[in-house]
Amino acid sequence: MADPRGFLKYPEREGRPSRPVPVRIMDFNEVYERQDKSTTQTQASRCMDCGIPFCHTGCPLGNLIPDWNDLVWRDQWEEASARLHMTNNFPEFTGRICPAPCETSCVLGINQPAVTIKQSEVEIADTALERGYVEPVVPSRLTGKTVAVVGSGPAGLAAAQQLTRAGHTVAVYERDDRVGGLLRYGIPDFKMEKHLVDFRIEQMEAEGTRFYPSTEIGADITWAALRESYDAVVVATGAMVPRDLPVPGRSLGGIHFAMDYLVQSNKAVAGDEVPDQIRADGKHVVILGGGDTGADCIGTAHRHGAKSVTTLAIGKELPRERPGHEPWPMDPRIFEMSSAHEEGGEVQWLASTVEFSGDENGNVRALKVAETEYREDGSRGPKPGTEREIPADLVFLALGFTGAEQETLDSQVGMEFTSRGAVGRTEDYQTNVEGIFTVGDAGRGASLVVWAIAEGRAAASKVDEYLEGSTRLPYPVKPSDRAISLT
Ligand code: FAD
Repeated sequence: MADPRGFLKYPEREGRPSRPVPVRIMDFNEVYERQDKSTTQTQASRCMDCGIPFCHTGCPLGNLIPDWNDLVWRDQWEEASARLHMTNNFPEFTGRICPAPCETSCVLGINQPAVTIKQSEVEIADTALERGYVEPVVPSRLTGKTVAVVGSGPAGLAAAQQLTRAGHTVAVYERDDRVGGLLRYGIPDFKMEKHLVDFRIEQMEAEGTRFYPSTEIGADITWAALRESYDAVVVATGAMVPRDLPVPGRSLGGIHFAMDYLVQSNKAVAGDEVPDQIRADGKHVVILGGGDTGADCIGTAHRHGAKSVTTLAIGKELPRERPGHEPWPMDPRIFEMSSAHEEGGEVQWLASTVEFSGDENGNVRALKVAETEYREDGSRGPKPGTEREIPADLVFLALGFTGAEQETLDSQVGMEFTSRGAVGRTEDYQTNVEGIFTVGDAGRGASLVVWAIAEGRAAASKVDEYLEGSTRLPYPVKPSDRAISLT
């Protein structure tokens, strides 16, 4: 184990350093900086190598956390990288953007700040990339079987990499012009720069995975034709249908789904020409929805030079500390203070939007908002008589997602869906259509990158078993394992 007395010698937790707010909002580069290695090592030495490492189960990937904390402490970065890549295809993604359920289940967290597990992960991952420890893993034999993966987000990428390494011939179809799913066009560069996605695509191409961007299955190729052409198909299309707010004034100009704003901004940051780009310069911005998507809009609006940024959350204020009814090792529902929240703006809780008001040109001017009332029958809604106005030139709806896009999957192959809008599946990730599997947000509902990677790995083992009769690929999570929902 790492230093047996580490947690006694160093009771304080020291996280990743970040660039000062006034500097970082001038650009879209990553907010966080590298930590010096000796600090990461000291922090890793706080890991107690517990008899029952609850962090293993907190992490959907089953990451071998005490093992790599020990290796970090011993300055054995290459071994740490090997141990990390045993359970996680893309640790530089999760090391940056995972909310780290491993840390909320860290045993040290019972009476001390938890070990900085995420910091160890990202420092191992970045060191591995810097020193060239991450190389293509080319399969030693080919099976002659073919697999189509539809969607190139973290779930599709993880499934494709595992299946390619198992010797199958894998093609990834993506309707966007660039590969990466929400890693590319949802999550802004200030949380994760895109050269990291590019590196993994290059690695996967060198291993033999083929990518077909700008190809929409259901339109350019039918689902039925795809199924006929491949021995198996993996649906990793995400849960992209946004939740709307059909109140009076919804059709006014200046009210957008958050993803429309974020995709355009990500494209502009990538150097694309974006005609009529939605920009927040000098505007009063109001964001409806207090989750990760809303936080990404806050950070983007500040970088655009918004006059004010207000987030409205319909529910009660979330606690900043673990509440008593969600004790260790549960993953508590607390307010996640993201880097974007540190950069400014205001969050108003218990705010129910009643209507949008417009100006003479048909553009939004203000929101009418009432206090949210919790009723005896369990429902909630605007409390009469509490209405007030908030000025708004630009409104983003970041109210979550209602599930996967269904139309062509239903009409072309008769795919069944759950009542919550996800693609239906068994514990083997199989859909009702023979030979078609589903992973990530498409089958789980909107969730997290760490779940997408874990599901991609697990589904790959089930596809391999389906094709070959047996498998040696790991199966880290079942579809029914606990989901962490994200709005
Ligand atoms: P996606 O990443 O959604 O990828 C699906 C891909 O399928 C897309 O590229 C889409 O274009 C493609 N596709 C869809 N239909 C077709 C078709 N018919 N043919 C071809 N291609 C198709 N999670 C975190 O852990 N941390 C965060 O900080 C975080 N921030 C987020 C911020 C935002 C704005 C959003 C929206 C989500 C965030 N999430 C975050 C959630 C996380 O991004 C998702 O859970 C994860 O990306 C899901 O991965 P996926 O592979 O299932 O789907």
